[in-house]
Amino acid sequence: MSSTLRVTIWNENRHEQIHPEVQKIYPNGMHTVIAQFLQEAGMQTQTATFDQPEHGLTDATLAETDVLTWWGHMLHKDVDDRIVDRVQKRVLEGMGLVVLHSGHESKIFKRMMGTTCDLKWREAAEKERLWVATPGHPIVEGIGPYIEIPHAEMYGEPFDIPTPDELILISWFQGGEVFRSGCTYRRGRGKIFYFRPGHETYPIYYHPDVQRVITNGVRWAAPEVGATIPAERLHGVPLEPIPGDTASA
Ligand code: ZN
Repeated sequence: MSSTLRVTIWNENRHEQIHPEVQKIYPNGMHTVIAQFLQEAGMQTQTATFDQPEHGLTDATLAETDVLTWWGHMLHKDVDDRIVDRVQKRVLEGMGLVVLHSGHESKIFKRMMGTTCDLKWREAAEKERLWVATPGHPIVEGIGPYIEIPHAEMYGEPFDIPTPDELILISWFQGGEVFRSGCTYRRGRGKIFYFRPGHETYPIYYHPDVQRVITNGVRWAAPEVGATIPAERLHGVPLEPIPGDTASA
């Protein structure tokens, strides 16, 4: 895209307010860290959080968003269904959606997937390697054979998602589990990228390779040319009568 990509970084921003260990790592919230590296990559960013009116995701905000990133954990059930409807509509119209870490259980991700999105997990500060399963894909541009994270929360299979369109990264954990950590989907005209890293008690969004994959993922999820038709027009469009067919007049 030639014009500047407009990204809205959504964060529940609750752990950062109530857990001192998370505050220490992300004193201004993880959304500000994510916004900063996306800005440094040349994108136009704004942040939105749970506590704002309409969770900061008004119609006007979403209308000016090319790609929305989503981090949530404690408050999934409290996210207003009307906002979930609104985000879903925009994705179907072509807005990109990048879902991070525990966002796997968000209403919006489960809505877009149609499955429970359940998984196994363990918090033991173990080592994780995210292996690049699709070399040459734009989302892993600039990444070597794998990304290593020294201390991570484990997510394990089975991950109850639909089979991804593309499986970009597969995680191995020190405890022996594996996980589909980088998955792409298309829903309507929108593109969705799920990316696993990001547990709040580790400084994962400062990791250069993690930043690179999120940056690449946002670029990949950007609307393609032509993906601008409002959802209302995707259905119920009256057909032209067949020329010379008087019966259908
Ligand atoms: Zn977590």
